[in-house]
Amino acid sequence: YNSNEQRDILIIGGGPAGYVAGIKASQLGMKVTVVEKRGKLGGTCVHDGCIPSKVLLHSSHLFDEAKSKFGKFGITGADQLQANVVDMVKNKNETVSDLADDIEVLFEKNRVDYVSGQATIISPTKVKIISNDNGEETIINTKHIIIATGSEITSVPGIEIDEKQIISSDSALNLQSIPKRLVIIGGGLIGLEVGSIWSRLGSQTTIIERTRIGGGSDNEMATHLRGLLESQNNMTFHVQTQATRVSKNEDGSVTVHVESIGEKGLNGSIEADIVLVAVGRRAFTRGLGLEKLGIVMDERGSIKVDANFCTNVESIFAIGDVIRGPMIAHRAQEEGIAVVEHLHSGATHKYGSIPLVIYTHPELAIVGLSEEHAKMMSISYKVGTFPLHANSLARATHQSNGLVKILADATSDKIIGVHIISDHASELIGQGVLAIQNGITTKDISRDTEI
Ligand code: FAD
Repeated sequence: YNSNEQRDILIIGGGPAGYVAGIKASQLGMKVTVVEKRGKLGGTCVHDGCIPSKVLLHSSHLFDEAKSKFGKFGITGADQLQANVVDMVKNKNETVSDLADDIEVLFEKNRVDYVSGQATIISPTKVKIISNDNGEETIINTKHIIIATGSEITSVPGIEIDEKQIISSDSALNLQSIPKRLVIIGGGLIGLEVGSIWSRLGSQTTIIERTRIGGGSDNEMATHLRGLLESQNNMTFHVQTQATRVSKNEDGSVTVHVESIGEKGLNGSIEADIVLVAVGRRAFTRGLGLEKLGIVMDERGSIKVDANFCTNVESIFAIGDVIRGPMIAHRAQEEGIAVVEHLHSGATHKYGSIPLVIYTHPELAIVGLSEEHAKMMSISYKVGTFPLHANSLARATHQSNGLVKILADATSDKIIGVHIISDHASELIGQGVLAIQNGITTKDISRDTEI
């Protein structure tokens, strides 16, 4: 475009929320510009999140499977295998870089205007961009603005991340050697995933968690997963325990001071070489100029939006990690499509069943309600569980530690929650998503004719 030409939509942030919204808008014939300050498209997901963690999880999984399982299947010699972390990280970087480039190709194909620079909103219909290339300032007029600026790392009071010994997930996905002792503060999705990478490669990994592991997942499933992870090498958990402070020692190690906040908690200290702080992320809105515009945020700093992602300023919308809700890439992408379809034709987009996966091994995949949620919502339900120990294929492949749990509404029989711990749970959960989205009942699944 000519830089003076008015846009239909200007999107700030080129992560999963912003780049999907940009492509959709262009496909629907709207004039759209995406501004990204990082110098590369893809956001946290491609550069510091989903993708790097999945590549390293795969490397470490291959290594661990070879070491721990090959022998059982009559393949010998695996005990000689070495983990070369520098090469693992290099391979990860190549995948990240390829995927980021692919998004640029998608932008070109779909004729999305992409500006590499820092955006600030100066009025409900004007955005100032400082170019990464030459520092020049441009003002763009636009009918609508979509904020898709994502999230940033947080820490706990008293513990400062220095990205050397006290690190965030960004550095944990770029370590150049295997820490002997790794302490992870936070047993949610990111702590468990990143912990799995390093424990499989040999780090003695201790996870400290205030409540219980697995975030908001079903209690029974979280307990089952914890048991499985504890039975693997190198993983120890201290729940009902909080880290209060980390002190640095002369020999280069660190001491993590912890205190018990429940019956099962630990009081004392744990020695480590590296401490990973994985206590969650918060919306990133710095430098956008939101205060001047009076954009309303909630007590956690997330931008408040209505059902169609509109903020309290009529022309300004927000999607992805920067608004309240599960901070996961596929939700951000779905919202990218929803908001653009709304701006294009007034459509409203309902998505009630967002799956969530914790990429441990086995994986925990979830869609819909947990038992605790169903109780909280006063929904009467019935439950079916199936241990993978009773599944012959799982037994044949030595993957029989899993558990499947399905919740259905007691009155309508419609499936309301699916929870799977198994190898490839991330792929199996798609069936649960379809079932919930389409109001499938347990009878629909178990038989196709009534007896
Ligand atoms: P982001 O991806 O954070 O993108 C926002 C972009 O906006 C950034 O690139 C930023 O540079 C840019 N920006 C900010 N301010 C400005 C400005 N003023 N001007 C211009 N540009 C700006 N999700 C999953 O679904 N599956 C997973 O397996 C998964 N694994 C994860 C593992 C880890 C270790 C982490 C940290 C996250 C993981 N996630 C996963 C979460 C996922 O990465 C996020 O939910 C997703 O990236 C959010 O997308 P977004 O577009 O809202 O924000």
